[in-house]
Amino acid sequence: MTDRRENTRVNWLATLAKFKDDPDRAADSAMWSPRLDGASRDELIAIQNEKLAVVTPFLYENSDFYRKRFDRLGLAPTDIAGVEDLVKWPVVDKSEMTVDVEVNPPFGNYTTMSDDIWRSRGWMLFSTSGTTGTPRVFRYSQIDREYWAWSNARAMHAMGFVPSDTVFMMTGYGTHVWAWGVQMGLAKMGIGLIPGGGMDGEMRAGIVERFKPTVLCCTPSYALYLGRTLQERGLDPAASTVTKLFCAGEPAMAIGPTREKLQDLWGARIVEFYGCTEAAPQAGGYTCAATGRDDNGYFLHLMEDIQVWETVDPESLQPSVPGQRGLSVCTNLVSESSPQLRFLVGDFTTLNQDGCACGRNHVRAMGCFSGRADDLINLRGIKFFPTQIEKAVRAIPGLGDEFQIVLSSRDVDGMDVMKVVAEHPDHGPASALTEQIAAAIRSEIELRVDVEVVAPNSLPKTEFKANRVTDQRAKT
Ligand SMILES: [Zn+2]
Repeated sequence: MTDRRENTRVNWLATLAKFKDDPDRAADSAMWSPRLDGASRDELIAIQNEKLAVVTPFLYENSDFYRKRFDRLGLAPTDIAGVEDLVKWPVVDKSEMTVDVEVNPPFGNYTTMSDDIWRSRGWMLFSTSGTTGTPRVFRYSQIDREYWAWSNARAMHAMGFVPSDTVFMMTGYGTHVWAWGVQMGLAKMGIGLIPGGGMDGEMRAGIVERFKPTVLCCTPSYALYLGRTLQERGLDPAASTVTKLFCAGEPAMAIGPTREKLQDLWGARIVEFYGCTEAAPQAGGYTCAATGRDDNGYFLHLMEDIQVWETVDPESLQPSVPGQRGLSVCTNLVSESSPQLRFLVGDFTTLNQDGCACGRNHVRAMGCFSGRADDLINLRGIKFFPTQIEKAVRAIPGLGDEFQIVLSSRDVDGMDVMKVVAEHPDHGPASALTEQIAAAIRSEIELRVDVEVVAPNSLPKTEFKANRVTDQRAKT
């Protein structure tokens, strides 16, 4: 038994190693690993098939969660030996993982990370935020760290990061994966980093002024706030040394008015990763040099030699028709701690397999990612994303960068209603401005909402992940 478990792990690791080209430095200026980054569709699928054929026996032998699910479905690991077979395996959603953790605390049985491996090559513990249930905790290994750093370096190389850059990381280093993963990738690339956790806006503005970073890492909300802080000091962010805004935590590129506001304010290009703590802590998705510069607009590549990405219909959870919008699903082929077979990440996007002007054939998420199914607001049966409100508000000149969405139930008849609060110097009761905002929102979500305009700087500034929705509705 032990031999079989270990053999499947050894086979899986050997297959991964076979496809780990250019582990420590970029092969050329366009692509870190030309054989992998520039692979044709057929070559990518052949790599995925070879890895899947060793991933499924590895999961079966090393994870009780997967073994029981295979047995329950009447499948043997060899029944899923290539991407064509994945459809036999129903998608796994968060609730299934949450039950696994609740029944088998504290790590759950889905992981293949044993206590022995943790003691012999453990790296670091990470956690989900727990906003939608019990936080799930992941113990990553040194092998995970190495694949994570390598794939992030490949992604940041595609984004246009070069050794002469200096990166200013404006976030603390908690148990969330993004900052650590970026740091590991930057270290591999030989790019200098200024850690900027635990500082206020004034201190950070001072660092931009004095130490001249070329890349800012923060949320889009914070990039807007920091730009305003520089302006209040009499400085023009667009005249600063910053050329790239590496945004995370909230969608930036997918929301046109937010993207344009940021690009105008800083005179900089926005770049993004895409992933989620459970399925793809390394960059599942990343910006390439061609995004925003051709007729296809804004998109992210998904790194298909290390993960398999699909979209499914939100209702049936069956594969979307090609070219149709669906929810993202990830199969991670390279994680020792957090292996995932068809995990429902749950962001809406449309996948496009056509080759990109940058030379990559890795599938593209068109329009990037603008909303996770979990964030969807349902108001009287009409569903929309907070990002749709953001798009409407940010398109109106003169409004502040912050806004809030308040959902409540009316005392008089119990009807659920929504109010959007925005900032403007001409604040006050109903006016042409409140009417303009309400009309913009209505054209976006087809709902008439209340609008309140308050004085500038009345709403709290968001430093990390913005929480702009307050739900005070009576629960039925
Ligand atoms: Zn590209």
